[in-house]
Amino acid sequence: MDMKINPVFDKPAGQPVVIAGPCSAESEEQVLTTARALAKQNIDLFRSGIWKPRTRPGSFEGVGVIGLKWLQKVKAETGLKVTTEVANRAHVFEALKHGIDVLWLGARTTVNPFSVQEVADAIKGVDIPVLIKNPINPDVKLWMGAIERIAKAGVTKIGVIHRGFSSFGNSNYRNEPMWQLAIELKRLVPGIQMVCDNSHICGRRDTLAFVAQRAMDLQMDGLMTEVHPNPDEAWSDAAQQITPAVFGELVKGLKLRKASTNDVEFLEHIDDLRHQIDEIDNNLLNLYSKRMNLAENIGKYKKKNNISILQSSRWNEILEQSMAKGREIGLSDGFVTQVLTAIHQESINHQTKVMNTGTTEKQAKKAKA
Ligand code: PEP
Ligand code: MN
Repeated sequence: MDMKINPVFDKPAGQPVVIAGPCSAESEEQVLTTARALAKQNIDLFRSGIWKPRTRPGSFEGVGVIGLKWLQKVKAETGLKVTTEVANRAHVFEALKHGIDVLWLGARTTVNPFSVQEVADAIKGVDIPVLIKNPINPDVKLWMGAIERIAKAGVTKIGVIHRGFSSFGNSNYRNEPMWQLAIELKRLVPGIQMVCDNSHICGRRDTLAFVAQRAMDLQMDGLMTEVHPNPDEAWSDAAQQITPAVFGELVKGLKLRKASTNDVEFLEHIDDLRHQIDEIDNNLLNLYSKRMNLAENIGKYKKKNNISILQSSRWNEILEQSMAKGREIGLSDGFVTQVLTAIHQESINHQTKVMNTGTTEKQAKKAKA
């Protein structure tokens, strides 16, 4: 689909977009106190959840429509633009009626095409900016699909929010960042503005700055962070919220790097390093090819002697040896395992072919030519 996507935020290059505000609106007082403090920091957009998608019923599910009136007061008093999460038709109508400036789709909405379509249909005819969080599960296509549905509804200003992906088991993160998926989305939708919701990635205060910096280093366009005047008392997501003052420090501490430069010496140096990397990648491919030739020879030999392809003791031995070696030279176990697994699988494919047909890849290619 040919999508015309314009930026939601008008920001000079190199300056991060800053979205902040409480996880949930709790009271007029709490919303206004937070907004006044954040307005002094010149943030770009004030966030606040009005309807909260909670995992279990019975938790605080948001204050509802009355909270929209508090956001109107924020606008009137501070001049800040405001945003809230919408998940169905009624939310969209209420948000539009109350003059909310930007809508956002939560992770639990993006995951469901029925819900995204319902929101898109409700928005149709109103060109309001929309920010779309990644779906809960690591599926870039689902994220793309939501962008497409909203764009098809006639929305021209669309941005995305990277808030990490749900995973099973213990992790330092509440939601795994899986940065490569965020980068992949940026590749698929060039130019789309992406902010990092470090709050929902971290789930805790002490790692917020680290993740925010990571996002800047990966050329993300800004941050969405949960800020509360009294975080420990927050009615939702207490563990990850910070005060406006702490947030101000976090933003000040960000090291911003330029995406590109015209400095010739710098460019030549980078160019040189890139050539060296290309050279190494090329050598690696040639070595893999040689390795496959050896695997094919083993395949022929095994065929002659009637031995099975997979010999798990040999595979374990290779893996153990390589991980030990990797540790010595600064390669993580995870990396070594992934690379070797891929190589091993390719070797098995080559061997299988030889054992079933008796021809090597090279011979097959020659025969075809
Ligand atoms: C939120 O922003 O408060 C929220 C509910 O986030 P997510 O949709 O990322 O879980
Ligand atoms: Mn939250």
